[in-house]
Amino acid sequence: MGYQYDRENIFAKILRKEIPSETVHETKHSLAFKDINPAAPTHILIIPKGSYVNFDHFGSDASEEEIIDFNQTVTTVIQQAKLDPNSNGEGYRLITNTGLNGVQEVPHLHFHLLGGRNMGTMVVR
Ligand code: 5GP
Repeated sequence: MGYQYDRENIFAKILRKEIPSETVHETKHSLAFKDINPAAPTHILIIPKGSYVNFDHFGSDASEEEIIDFNQTVTTVIQQAKLDPNSNGEGYRLITNTGLNGVQEVPHLHFHLLGGRNMGTMVVR
């Protein structure tokens, strides 16, 4: 059973430039933009341009070129935001919510890059 991609989801509309977003970084296969409702001083969403619902969909169906591009984009955005401890950044949290239990709102794969404050406990116990 394959994933059905909803072409009318908000991030698909952002990719088609039907609704505006604040781009942070863009490559051939990936886009990073600011979250409209930030949960931290830095809150950037990083998405592949391809039609993938979540990370396991992406990992199964994306090309090597897309996977490499996406991984490189995540790293670049972390470094551009000066969050990487290697450059004296104070660290970050990278999250990808998936499906019902992951409480995913938008059905297009996205990584949340959060930084600029202590993120506290990872999940409610
Ligand atoms: P999820 O709950 O699916 O992991 O996260 C969806 C994220 O998308 C939320 O953090 C929400 O604030 C963000 N978001 C929803 N609609 C828009 C929008 O139109 N533009 C931007 N930039 N972010 C959005």
